[in-house]
Amino acid sequence: MTVVTRFAPSPTGYLHIGSLRTVLYNYLYAKQHNGKFMLRVEDTDRTRYVEGSIENMLKVLASVGLIPDEGPNNPGDLGPYYQSERLDIYTQYVQQLIDSDMAYYCFCSSERLDTLRKEQQELSLPTKYDGHCRYMTAEEIQEQLDAGVPYTVRLKVPKDREVVFHDTIKGKVTVHTKDIDDQVLLKSDGFPTYHLANVVDDHLMNVTHVIRGDEWTPSTPKHILLYEAFGWTPPTFSHIPLLLGIDKKKLSKRTGDVAVEQYLEKGYLTEALINYIALLGWNPKTTEEFFTITELIARFNLEHVHKAGAIFDVDRLDFFNAHYLKSMDIDMLYHKWITYLERYNTEFLVKIQSYDESYNMKILRELTTRIKKFSDLPELTKFFYGEVGAVDTSLFLHEKMKITDMTMVQEALKLARSILETTDVGSLESIKDAFISGISNAGYKNGQVLWPVRVALSGEEFSPGALELVYILGKEKSIERIENILKQI
Ligand code: GLU
Repeated sequence: MTVVTRFAPSPTGYLHIGSLRTVLYNYLYAKQHNGKFMLRVEDTDRTRYVEGSIENMLKVLASVGLIPDEGPNNPGDLGPYYQSERLDIYTQYVQQLIDSDMAYYCFCSSERLDTLRKEQQELSLPTKYDGHCRYMTAEEIQEQLDAGVPYTVRLKVPKDREVVFHDTIKGKVTVHTKDIDDQVLLKSDGFPTYHLANVVDDHLMNVTHVIRGDEWTPSTPKHILLYEAFGWTPPTFSHIPLLLGIDKKKLSKRTGDVAVEQYLEKGYLTEALINYIALLGWNPKTTEEFFTITELIARFNLEHVHKAGAIFDVDRLDFFNAHYLKSMDIDMLYHKWITYLERYNTEFLVKIQSYDESYNMKILRELTTRIKKFSDLPELTKFFYGEVGAVDTSLFLHEKMKITDMTMVQEALKLARSILETTDVGSLESIKDAFISGISNAGYKNGQVLWPVRVALSGEEFSPGALELVYILGKEKSIERIENILKQI
């Protein structure tokens, strides 16, 4: 039997970090079993519909490399993939349940149901349908239908028994039917409810493994009852634990960004995002931390997903991103940077494109250990892509390095200029050799010269070191900046 997993988003907004993990686990499980990962859109709740959200989710999934094998963008035999285009199918299956006495018409008005709910609430009882229409005779039903009374269709939940299922992650789950409502399957507007559409589609789309967030666990006994009512074999269920914020509460906007797109916008590498997300709730049972997607496919184990909630911590994401920034091949990283800028910062792209590619690459290479993510680059590269204006002279003084007055700064800069004039700046090594020997020959300590040079070349309190700046800026630009400062001070 081919393993089929699915992601079934509702078009209610952006792709949440928690949903990315759901997608990832579904993807990994399908791929490691040579199966299929599909995407279906659960858009039957029209009141929560957000225009463009699915297109956006699909775009985000494509940019992180988790492309469904089948779905709206790459249809196969199992479509349509939007539930709103499958209404006839649900009506047909509801009719089947009515005919086999597994479901019944409910003509209760919303006023009656409201009153019922309020009464139950006042008595602190669980709010449930009271079965008012469950025992109507065929004639009574026909009368109502003929009179055109609006109706819903409800599942005839069996009395007094247990519903049991085995969850891959949570183990055995048992619920008594007295705690399950005669849930609505078909709403009065002819649209199916989530429960009905979800079960019918998982069945018709041959889904073998349902991997979804823990918030859906309470729905699963209802789904099991529906599979029974249809006489279908249910898929395997795995409910993955909630993602928590650093405050240990459900991950929400309160503690930071929750949309995947926000992390892409900030320029996190998708490799880092995927690697980190995979480890939220799963670990390889070794101390290994870094996994490519191919390694994840080989190593992921659904049965080893933890029961307890996992904490999403941006500092950990930064740690993974730093690893990939440092270890990625520079050509590849450069390509990713440009792609990122094309999508999220064309203004900066235009700016860097007015410089040589080799210059931009040198900058990127130098800064990979200093940035957390691509969006840090514009601020940290101001002095590479613009001139250094007037510099706050106090920046040149440095107590620890014993640079106590501007005469010392002047002398240091003059020495640096003369070293530069006779130095080949084509490699960091040659720059280093020239400066180290030049400084020592002149009887200074390295810091006494390199610090003022660094400030002169960057104009900033923090920047890469003086030698790296010289290497990136080149001889002419470095001398020009030193001279400008000499004129200023
Ligand atoms: N449409 C549901 C959601 O928005 C899907 C739940 C499920 O995977 O069954 O998350």
